[in-house]
Amino acid sequence: MRTRVIVLGGNFGGLTAALAVKHELHGDVDVIVVSKDDHFLFNPSLIWLPFGKRDREDLTFPIAPTLEEHGIDFEHVAATGVDAEAKTVTLADGRELEYDYLVIATGYRNKDDVVPGFAENALNITTLPEAERAGEAWTRFLDDPGDVVVGATQGAGCFGAAYEFLFNMSHQLKKAGLKKQVKLSYVTSEPFLGHFGIGGLPHGEDLLGMFLKKEGIEAHINTGIDHVESDAVVLGSGETLRSRYSMIIPPFLGQDFLLGTGLTDEKGYVKVRDTYQTEKYDDVYAVGIAAAVDAPWTTPTPVGIPKTGFPTEAMAHTAAKNIAAQVLGEVPSHEKAFGDIKAVCVMDAGNNGVIILADKMLPPRKHGVLIPGPQAHLMKLGFEKYFLWKMRNGHVMLP
Ligand SMILES: Cc1cc2nc3c(=O)[nH]c(=O)nc-3n(C[C@H](O)[C@H](O)[C@H](O)COP(=O)(O)OP(=O)(O)OC[C@H]3O[C@@H](n4cnc5c(N)ncnc54)[C@H](O)[C@@H]3O)c2cc1C
Repeated sequence: MRTRVIVLGGNFGGLTAALAVKHELHGDVDVIVVSKDDHFLFNPSLIWLPFGKRDREDLTFPIAPTLEEHGIDFEHVAATGVDAEAKTVTLADGRELEYDYLVIATGYRNKDDVVPGFAENALNITTLPEAERAGEAWTRFLDDPGDVVVGATQGAGCFGAAYEFLFNMSHQLKKAGLKKQVKLSYVTSEPFLGHFGIGGLPHGEDLLGMFLKKEGIEAHINTGIDHVESDAVVLGSGETLRSRYSMIIPPFLGQDFLLGTGLTDEKGYVKVRDTYQTEKYDDVYAVGIAAAVDAPWTTPTPVGIPKTGFPTEAMAHTAAKNIAAQVLGEVPSHEKAFGDIKAVCVMDAGNNGVIILADKMLPPRKHGVLIPGPQAHLMKLGFEKYFLWKMRNGHVMLP
């Protein structure tokens, strides 16, 4: 009997891990991907969808053909449980699958109850349906404009998306001839502008401050949100910001079904070692947003850590190498602590942007640089095309 690897999730982490395990073992392994969604989603471009610059078809592709081409089985169904002692996964259709090795790459869900009124009154762009809803609201807004609030709540970690949406909003307001009449505000739990949930980078605070000033954006830093109303965002300080369009990034959580498995912290993130094996089980791995990462700081207003695409891929490759080692009877010795993975990101600003490069995701770092300019926007456009091509064709061994 061949070794069977089950991968839960079919996006950045899951697709990479499944294809990489197959590659590492030269095909001599059975791999099954179990995913609630049957399409890959390039989440980074959700920032453009509400403005009509992208739609669902531009950002997604069906994963079944890709998996089939690489000899990987696909189960389009949600996982509902993991029994790490019995080495089984239960599925929403009642079936139970046995595994030799398991990779959990089930990503995030939004903490919708983060503040009262968030679920009812705020828009967000962290999922495809929510980004589409934000797009419908944008169309209505253009007919009846008012002030705009873009923000990230206490505990949020995906600050890059908040900044990108903020600057794209400013760009779109200019294009619509509304810039002068609309007050655009940014609300963030970050202790300073450009913290990004990764502790900031040299000159980041000045650069972001300059960007906001140039665009006439009012910033509320180190600020929690008390609640969201249909026409206002009320800050922890009691200040009320009137808003016709409130796009707020909430904190992320791990998937609910993982909470009962004994593998997670209280947020549902799976606790892992630097090999991406779980703390308790050598044959269960977790990668990407599903994996727990500890912040090496506390901030006056709580902030989360962004687990972006590049570290997600690095975690998936590390896990794949270790599984291959275990299958071959070797010690799983590949290690890549999250904080030591390189930070490589592009922050888009509509027709401009910033390239973010650092030798490590988390401090202390030796190098970190922010390169602003229109080339960043072009880079993001090119990267989107390249990454979708790479994943659709299963070329996960490419950078
Ligand atoms: C708006 C936005 C902008 C972003 N911008 C950038 C950026 O510019 N650069 C960057 O590097 N990163 C960016 N990111 C982060 C990037 O999207 C994540 O790093 C990446 O999505 C993490 O991949 P993942 O596979 O861990 O999780 P996810 O992408 O969340 O994928 C989870 C997978 O698990 C599946 N799943 C969930 N529950 C179950 C279940 N119960 N059973 C089976 N399957 C399940 C889902 O269907 C999905 O296939 C952005 C994220 C957002 C939301």
